[in-house]
Amino acid sequence: MSEFKNFIEDIIDSDLASGKVTQVCTRFPPEPNGYLHIGHAKSLCINFGIKNKYNGKCNLRFDDTNPSKEDQEYVESIKRDITWLGFTWDKLLFASDYFDVMFDCAVKLINKGLAYVSDESADEIRERRGTLTEPGVESPYRNRSVSENLQLFYQMRNGVYPDGSKVLRAKIDMASPNLNMRDPVIYRVLHATHHNTGDKWCIYPMYDFAHPIEDAHEGITHSICTLEFEDHRPLYDWVVRECEFPQPRPQQIEFARLNITNTIMSKRYLKKLVDEGKVMGWDDPRMPTLSGLRRRGYPAAALRDFCERIGVSKANSEVQESYLQSCVRDELNRTANRVMAVFDPLPVTITNYNGSEQLSVENNPNADNVTYRNVTFSNRIYIDRADFALVPPPKYHRLKPDGYVRLKGAYILHCDDVALNDDGTVKQLICSIVPNSKSGEDTSGVKVKGVIQWVNAADCIDITVRKLQSLLTDVQDGVTDFNLRFNANSLQVVTAKAEPSLLSAQVEDKFQFMRVGYYVLDRDSADGNLVFNEIVNLKDGFNPAI
Ligand code: ATP
Ligand code: MG
Repeated sequence: MSEFKNFIEDIIDSDLASGKVTQVCTRFPPEPNGYLHIGHAKSLCINFGIKNKYNGKCNLRFDDTNPSKEDQEYVESIKRDITWLGFTWDKLLFASDYFDVMFDCAVKLINKGLAYVSDESADEIRERRGTLTEPGVESPYRNRSVSENLQLFYQMRNGVYPDGSKVLRAKIDMASPNLNMRDPVIYRVLHATHHNTGDKWCIYPMYDFAHPIEDAHEGITHSICTLEFEDHRPLYDWVVRECEFPQPRPQQIEFARLNITNTIMSKRYLKKLVDEGKVMGWDDPRMPTLSGLRRRGYPAAALRDFCERIGVSKANSEVQESYLQSCVRDELNRTANRVMAVFDPLPVTITNYNGSEQLSVENNPNADNVTYRNVTFSNRIYIDRADFALVPPPKYHRLKPDGYVRLKGAYILHCDDVALNDDGTVKQLICSIVPNSKSGEDTSGVKVKGVIQWVNAADCIDITVRKLQSLLTDVQDGVTDFNLRFNANSLQVVTAKAEPSLLSAQVEDKFQFMRVGYYVLDRDSADGNLVFNEIVNLKDGFNPAI
């Protein structure tokens, strides 16, 4: 964790120093209307990071006050993803468990003359709301008596009124320069079955009323949210104050949401892709959901590292997708075992080698304890077509006619002859190995610059590989609409030949296919057919200067 404090931690430090707060308590409040995405990872890292740093608490609270879009599947996925990311919540809560508390708060406001039932339609409310330059017009129902309001509000709760016919509004200030303070709606009639409370309620609180109550009721000290709620903070403070919650009252703090180039950060649009069958599901490895990134092979530690490195600020910005990829690459470079795979196989026959032998090859040069695996060598191997040039450019270090290259973990190979197809393309190579050139015990005296991967034709396996790109194409001519930027080529399926050690891999195991990239075993693998997802290639495209 970084030694520098961000502005949220500065606030917390001063609250602790002044004695305003004795134990820090944060919360992560997802609405269970979709899967979590990489943007949520930032919020998770901030909230749970504070818990861990200050030995505080962090609750997972499902903000399920909007019954029509929510689903148990989402609740389960959110719990799974947070655990995977490496965080442990203190209390597991549902905002819907507080519907009684919220109702009582509304009654309290009515009794204080601070809320009234209005018969206006949504359109009428909007029309009378005024603008940034003009004050709003007071509702004709604003001066209903407390007793009439109480009676109407109970009738709303008892199901007397149809959807949209009545709302409860806070009575604040129709001339406030802040539009959110112009008598906001705090309860609406909605005859909908809720995933948690069933048909118990036919009125539901609005977010701006529910959220501060949830925070205050739970004893949240710092309620961290994204910048678009900055203008809602006066209403947040009004609600906790007028509902008379005890001190210390929660403090809302806003930070800039995470945006990443070519990355969809909207559950609504992600859901659309799923519903329209444009992806394999919420955990499609191209999806920026945590489930998708996990299936893509992004390690949880890399996501945490990314969130740490981008930091927390109050200025909106867009992070390059390649920055995230570079965090993933750093982590995998440390942790992923190396294996050999050949995507475009070129047959090689070795004329001076007979039989076969087991070679011991290092799994990961960066591991703390280096381990080895066996790879079988024989006189028929495949190398990648890209590693041979019939007419090499200057300073070419891979294989060429009458040239040398080292086979990783094996011998130095010399190209003696090239067999061509009728069309002039290379059919196969006739090679020999340099005597006494075995890796680790090379006394041949032959110096080679290039090292290439290979597989043994006698035992290599065919694997399926998904090459993945962003679901969005780059912004062109100012077109930012996601619907117009769907990348039809985001998934390409190819095959490769790989060493048979992969047969013992487990789903989610990650590998570096030497000199190509990082790959993860997908759960779509079946006996005999291994399916890998491309995680990232080896080349770092991130330029910190851009
Ligand atoms: P979406 O617009 O994708 O539906 P949301 O904000 O409605 O996202 P919530 O479930 O309400 O999703 O979010 C839970 C928490 O995650 C909130 O505190 C929200 O501010 C935070 N969050 C959501 N998106 C981002 C983001 N891109 N960057 C940082 N935090 C985010
Ligand atoms: Mg939301």
